[in-house]
Amino acid sequence: MKLSEQVVVIRNGQLVDGTGAAAVPDACVTIEQGHIRYAGPAVAAPPVPPDAFEIDARGGTILPGLIESHFHPTYFNVEALEDLDIKYPVEYVTLLAAANAKLALECGYTSARSGGSLFNIDVWLKKAIEEDLVTGPRLAASGREICGVGGLMDWNPDFRRIGMEGLVLLVNGADEARAAVRKLVKDGVEWVKTYPTGDAAAPDVNDHHSLSMTFEEMHAVVATAHNHRLKVTGHCRATEGIKNALRAGYDAIEHGTFMDDEALDLLLERNVPMVPALQFEKASIELGPQWGMSQRVIDGHKETLEAGAESALKVLRAGGRVGMGGDYGFAWTPHGTYAKELTFFVREVGFTPLETLHCATKTGAGILGRGHELGTLEAGKLGDVLVIDGDVVADISILEDRQRILAVLQGGIVKAGRLA
Ligand SMILES: [Zn+2]
Repeated sequence: MKLSEQVVVIRNGQLVDGTGAAAVPDACVTIEQGHIRYAGPAVAAPPVPPDAFEIDARGGTILPGLIESHFHPTYFNVEALEDLDIKYPVEYVTLLAAANAKLALECGYTSARSGGSLFNIDVWLKKAIEEDLVTGPRLAASGREICGVGGLMDWNPDFRRIGMEGLVLLVNGADEARAAVRKLVKDGVEWVKTYPTGDAAAPDVNDHHSLSMTFEEMHAVVATAHNHRLKVTGHCRATEGIKNALRAGYDAIEHGTFMDDEALDLLLERNVPMVPALQFEKASIELGPQWGMSQRVIDGHKETLEAGAESALKVLRAGGRVGMGGDYGFAWTPHGTYAKELTFFVREVGFTPLETLHCATKTGAGILGRGHELGTLEAGKLGDVLVIDGDVVADISILEDRQRILAVLQGGIVKAGRLA
């Protein structure tokens, strides 16, 4: 991805640097050769050349570009799980994914970790973004997800003889789990996304208290992935699934819904990050009926929401790492509404705005494995910055309003916002 050749100076706004530190009023951020040179009080800012590109953030907030830690670029606002796989051909889903990536950047998200993709689309989308062919967040790619046969993602009955086309690699036993990871290694993914458990969305045989993979399969995934220096994460609702994942050596936990004390200890022992994705549950409860969700599914989402919120707060208060990401890409959680996640955590989970922003920036960068170059506004890091009109510490929901975004910068280049 190109870096700005011009010096950039952002003045007059308050600074939230992503470290969790209090906001700095009347701040200044300078960017040279695409990297942050200075971020702090305006009085101590270094001089900039007269031809520097100047952004006036008066009345606004300067913060690191947001990081979506559970992004599904190929989910095209589907109305049913089944649509995720073969509703459209891969060619069209690739174009939809590029449009979703562009939209995410326009919403202030300068980086994202994929939580799974149809075929290998996110791997190639990442390449296209890095080569500046299309705009979007800097991506960590996952490619196809892995699930046990008969588990949550294996929804096509055998009599239809259509199996699973591009979304998920279905495995039976440790050997097939190893083979699936080896395929992903060749595909070029960085994260292996698995399905240790079911979900409220599938209440009959794969609900949120059921398992979709065995420990042996999960352990085989981790051993193979780690050998090739890939990281492993998993969709973990049921308590036993969370513990299986942590004991198998997972590098992250998605959802972590029914987290008991033993699971929490296992999580904290290795400082494994967790991405709860909770606004999805709230939206399912509120909007599910209009998309034909049964009462049983909605009741399951209620149980998930309650336990998930409690677990997320417990992890943060115990000093654990929580990433912000939200499974956006369903009809009731369409792309472009990612920042609802942040509002939800402040208003309904009990995170402070600064804690939430820390999760959505610095923690996200750590999850991406790029904490050394992204996630905070500190000297030496890449110039990925969001400048927004308004005080996001006083009202975090401002981040949901794209009209308020003045500028979204990657490597010091304004890619989106009113100034683009
Ligand atoms: Zn997901």
